[in-house]
Amino acid sequence: MNYTRSSALFQEAKKYIPGGVNSPVRAFQAVGGDPVFIEKAKGAYLYDADGRQLIDYIASWGPMILGHAHQEVVEKLIDRTQKGTSFGAPTELETEIAKLAVKMVPNIDQIRFVNSGTEACMSAVRLARGYTAREKLIKFSGCYHGHSDAFLIQAGSGALTFGTPNSPGVTQGTAKDTLLARFNDLASVANLVEQNQGEIAAVIIEPVAGNMGCILPQPGFLEGLREICDQNGILLIFDEVMTGFRLAAGGAQERLGVQADIVTFGKVIGGGLPVGAFAARQEIMEFLAPVGPVYQAGTLSGNPLAMTAGLTMLNLLDNNPEVYRSLDEKTAYLHQGLEACFKAHPEIPYQINRLGSMISVHFSDQPVVDFESSALAARGDSFSRFFHGMLEREIYLPPSAYESWFLNDALSYDDIDKTIHACEDILQNWS
Ligand code: PMP
Repeated sequence: MNYTRSSALFQEAKKYIPGGVNSPVRAFQAVGGDPVFIEKAKGAYLYDADGRQLIDYIASWGPMILGHAHQEVVEKLIDRTQKGTSFGAPTELETEIAKLAVKMVPNIDQIRFVNSGTEACMSAVRLARGYTAREKLIKFSGCYHGHSDAFLIQAGSGALTFGTPNSPGVTQGTAKDTLLARFNDLASVANLVEQNQGEIAAVIIEPVAGNMGCILPQPGFLEGLREICDQNGILLIFDEVMTGFRLAAGGAQERLGVQADIVTFGKVIGGGLPVGAFAARQEIMEFLAPVGPVYQAGTLSGNPLAMTAGLTMLNLLDNNPEVYRSLDEKTAYLHQGLEACFKAHPEIPYQINRLGSMISVHFSDQPVVDFESSALAARGDSFSRFFHGMLEREIYLPPSAYESWFLNDALSYDDIDKTIHACEDILQNWS
């Protein structure tokens, strides 16, 4: 369905911005139709250009874990803005947020702030290569670590949605250093390690994948990876851009009890402003310039507005198990409600994967445990129909079968009931 004002804005945007958007998945190409243009947001709701109020299950792709325009974040930002928005010189704020992040996240001594998840992952890999003096990288098909060249090898998210996992512009030279393993398949990792003895710097993984829909690590998988890495001098990088400060205050490392050597962050850590970060124990972080030889920098890195939003957000989440309990309970409630809707329609195949406040529905009768099973589920137009059905009912889901939904704690049980009823209604009219 197209909406008058959003569609007009989209037509105009397309004249000046490739595809009308600044990040591909926003264009609705995977689900068809014109994207919804947003005017403002508050709490659990987005308000679009056609004046509709939408219940938001994207949360800006993760950051708005406490809902939009959180009062404390907004007030601190207004105050900070009046004191200047960028200095290109150190501020006390940066140490404050670094100190808090190091306290909240297990197993890290130091952290460096950048401007996006892409930068965080790109820098983490450079650091791992510098530290180990090795060049190759293992990633998992369907995992997305940003749009840096080394990661656009069977990447998830928009790179999957658009059917171009290997983007033109990524050189053969770069591609040859990225080795592909299969999520939840330790043997595929062990084989690569065996075939590339002494050459692999790092294994990078989304500990809970969110870029091929939500996919959970099977019991023992992450522990097995940890073991393979330890036995072979390989650094294990957890890309916690989605999971960090979301699955627990200490992210997936805390929630799943497995420790990584380098952890990357984005989304929640910036409280809705452009922030990424990577962190590790001191001996690794000291390889970074200006202390060590691995170069990494940024004009706007540690920007005072971004750090203010991030610090306020982390302070709201620190020592606050109640917020994680609440998010888990709300998501479990949604999960049960959706499950009940689908169970009433045995003719419609489905799988619901969830951990904490990450959840997604795959239209498949097979368990979705890796990229291959996720791709199988994404065939056909079931997800698009479901997505548009929800949107017509003012529920805003990620516009792709390959994206996790993110719950925010501003959602009320009424909002979730409305979502479940919308699902019920769609499935009743499915055939
Ligand atoms: N890693 C993961 C797991 C992500 O989900 C994303 C973005 N969705 C990124 C890295 C890249 O982050 P950004 O879009 O901020 O560059």
